[in-house]
Amino acid sequence: MSGLRFPRHILPKIHKMITLRNQQVILDSDVAELYGVQTKRVNEVVSNNPEKFPEGYVLMLDNQEKAEVVENFDHKLSNDRANPKENRKSFRLLEKIVSLHPILNKQTSNMKNTDNKGKVFLFNTLSKRKELFKPITPDHVGLYVCGPTVYGEPHLGHARPAVTFDVVFRYLTHIGYKVRYVRNITDVGHLEHDADEGEDKIAKKARLEQLEPMEVAQYYMDSYHKAMDALNVKGPSIEPRASGHIIEQIEMVQKILDAGYAYVSKGSVYFDVEKFDKDFGYGKLSGRVLSELIANTRELDGQSEKRNPADFALWKKASPEHIMRWNSPWSVGFPGWHIECTAMSTKYLGEQFDIHGGGMDLLFPHHESEVCQSTVANGKSSVRYWMHNNMITIEGQKMGKSLGNFITLNEFFTGKHEKLEKAYSPMTIRYFVLQASYRGTVDFSNAALQSAEKGLEKLYAAERHLDSLKAGNTSTENITALQERCYEAMNDDFNTPKVIAELFDAVRVVNAVKDGHATLTAEDIDLLKNTFRTFFFDILGIKPELAQGDTREHDALEKAMQLVLDMRKTAKAEKNWALSDKIRDDLNAAGIVVKDTKDGAEWSLA
Ligand SMILES: [Zn+2]
Repeated sequence: MSGLRFPRHILPKIHKMITLRNQQVILDSDVAELYGVQTKRVNEVVSNNPEKFPEGYVLMLDNQEKAEVVENFDHKLSNDRANPKENRKSFRLLEKIVSLHPILNKQTSNMKNTDNKGKVFLFNTLSKRKELFKPITPDHVGLYVCGPTVYGEPHLGHARPAVTFDVVFRYLTHIGYKVRYVRNITDVGHLEHDADEGEDKIAKKARLEQLEPMEVAQYYMDSYHKAMDALNVKGPSIEPRASGHIIEQIEMVQKILDAGYAYVSKGSVYFDVEKFDKDFGYGKLSGRVLSELIANTRELDGQSEKRNPADFALWKKASPEHIMRWNSPWSVGFPGWHIECTAMSTKYLGEQFDIHGGGMDLLFPHHESEVCQSTVANGKSSVRYWMHNNMITIEGQKMGKSLGNFITLNEFFTGKHEKLEKAYSPMTIRYFVLQASYRGTVDFSNAALQSAEKGLEKLYAAERHLDSLKAGNTSTENITALQERCYEAMNDDFNTPKVIAELFDAVRVVNAVKDGHATLTAEDIDLLKNTFRTFFFDILGIKPELAQGDTREHDALEKAMQLVLDMRKTAKAEKNWALSDKIRDDLNAAGIVVKDTKDGAEWSLA
């Protein structure tokens, strides 16, 4: 409900409106002259809706925003030759308005989500500082995140990057960017040891379980997807599999060979790190120094193929027992692990794209190698902003199978692990992850999870009360400021703990209004509902769940549904189609979808 209309090219830069007293729109005479039509319209709107516009509207920007406007306008002026005079004039007037009206008494109006486009700062691992995010193509964002190697059950180490970049994806989409989100599936090429040695992780599992490697990949990919659904992680726009892009990987290896930064050795192809270091400088992303790296690298069997222990494989010749193998110009073999991400990100996002994300454990050697590959193959480093989420520990220890603290997501959801005192719902896990900044470590313990569970329950309870708040004549709480603080937190490197703190401030307001200690106008109640639900559900991605935090209620529902589905099964067995259909349709009407699978009927909320 902005009262004042400015030309399109100014509007996005202006996001704060504040009211003035005196029931009139205060405009500089120059502005009135330039925007005569619009001013007249504003006056009309205001005089026709006195109850909606008890006071006029004028623009207000703080210093940081002003600086940004200047920057944007400079850019705009240099680009827009069609009407430079007009633009300069617009800008000067805008500046004048800003200087004429510093902070006035009361803020109002609903900030639009798109007003936050162009205001996001993110921490770039490459520059080691927060940078203003500017996409290569205006309004479009290319986002690539390293997905799972599918050879085992999904665990917390999978949940953290997935949830982190889900929030990045959700927020950038929310503020109006068109995001193409690519998250790959590694189903070939990831060896047991990062130094290009050992068995392929998926092939090993296949051998142990006497399965086709692709059966292993399919099984664990499905279970990854199931866990991600439970965590309310949105699927990416494209989810390419490494095994489906062997041709692209071979082509890229060839490009690197042609450029002279790789060599063939006994049928395998290795990247020449030393040559790269000389020409481009190695270690820009991870900060590793090549000479130290070489000094610290153990000589392993088979490394004699490499000229230098720091070189990494682009293509590996398959040994006779290796089951995953493809033809290539160099040997029958398989791609190195790092090349898949460069090949697939180039294919779907172009030679240069905006954001590459992943866990800090991938920074070296995986991402450093990606930088080498793209720099040589595409003539430039592909990625503008590198984002890395920090690691998860369990009771202060690194998670590992040998330590007995390796807990899968499913074990968290069911509570079936000796380290767990109880089951923790997927939303508790999600919320717990988001309680910390993505760049900080997260330590899981029963106590910490149970306190997260309680906090989340408070937020759910407040959300349920939103619809029963009674409006008053005035507002004693500033909801616009609350909404702005939520956006500011997200714009500040996706600061989810800050957003959660703001939501708790909203809980305080809800309770105060409920208890009669505070009042809100109908308009502010709407804004509060909108703000709370937008950030809680849409941006943090918390699912409106039945009986969150109360597993008894949840279990009871599960049992009741099983009973109903059993009745339907009996009806079907007795060929009582009318009854079985009625059960299905009535459940449907209640928002419960029943799906018949080969393992029996399953239910889910619509
Ligand atoms: Zn990757």
